[in-house]
Amino acid sequence: MKISFVIPVYNEEKGFLKFYNSLLLPELEKIKYDYEVILVNDGSKDKSLEVIQKLSDADKRIKVLSFSRNFGKEVALTAGIREAEGDGILTMDADGQQPPKLIHEFIKKWEEGGEIVIGVRGKYEKHGLIAKVGSKLFYAMLRAMGVKDTVPGSTDFRLIDRCVADEYNKLTEHGRITRGLMDWMGFKKVYIDYIYGNRLAGKPSYNFSKLFNLAIDSFISLSTTPLVIFAWVGGFITIASLILGIFVLIEEFAMGDPIGLKWTGTTCVSIFITFLIGLVMISQSVTALYVSHIHAEAQGRPLYIIDRKNSRNLKKEK
Ligand code: UDP
Ligand code: MG
Repeated sequence: MKISFVIPVYNEEKGFLKFYNSLLLPELEKIKYDYEVILVNDGSKDKSLEVIQKLSDADKRIKVLSFSRNFGKEVALTAGIREAEGDGILTMDADGQQPPKLIHEFIKKWEEGGEIVIGVRGKYEKHGLIAKVGSKLFYAMLRAMGVKDTVPGSTDFRLIDRCVADEYNKLTEHGRITRGLMDWMGFKKVYIDYIYGNRLAGKPSYNFSKLFNLAIDSFISLSTTPLVIFAWVGGFITIASLILGIFVLIEEFAMGDPIGLKWTGTTCVSIFITFLIGLVMISQSVTALYVSHIHAEAQGRPLYIIDRKNSRNLKKEK
């Protein structure tokens, strides 16, 4: 039996060695299975690649899968899982925020039959208000859109069984969010609560705009509700304006304005027109978002490009 550890690395030169040598390695030495570590260099702009290449030169169990540019963490995880040969595959961040001490607990749950063991972020040791509120909002919206199975706070600190990985590797979509896809796939899930620690070094690279785009991507790839919402809103507005129109007609013209509202036709018309133009524009852009996703899928480009020259110890291409 073998366990693969998949770790995306993006600009982690400052903290990576500390993470690997003092946090992860001591734990790896304790596990009773064979293991391999797949470090996915996601187009780092600092010296991360050199750092991890050195590690892999010294230990053949460490593989380096280097991208030709930055493709994002979700894609890095996907590539790592595709490369993994283990019977169980554990994904975790390279910054030490997900405590490697817990891997034994993950492995135990997996041995007990959990096919997807998911780390759920309980408390943050130190985390900005925006991140907290943003994450709450994200899960609330996912639920509202009909994606019911997500447990709020689920993270990519996760162990999946070989059978899950084999199915996961068949998924081809581009705008992907691993968490959502894992939920969508089903299988037997087990959750482990943990405290999200602080970064060892460097800055988190997921800033507000990256997270916002990720949220939009996941809404679109996981749910078609946004399309339906605007049909309903459109319908509601139409009926509401019809009722208001009839009210104005009766109040103003049939009853001679008893309440004294003094509606002028122009006011009504202009308010409605502006309102409807806004609505049409919003619904257009929602549709456009879906179309752009179809566009990306239709292009059928590979999800990522591996820079073979800078990669180390990878399995041969089939
Ligand atoms: N990461 C990556 N590609 C990116 C951004 C981040 O591979 O474009 C990696 C990063 O090196 C880390 C993990 O993904 O191992 C989580 O990133 P980060 O700590 O920036 O995010 P957060 O802690 O806010 O989830
Ligand atoms: Mg982090």
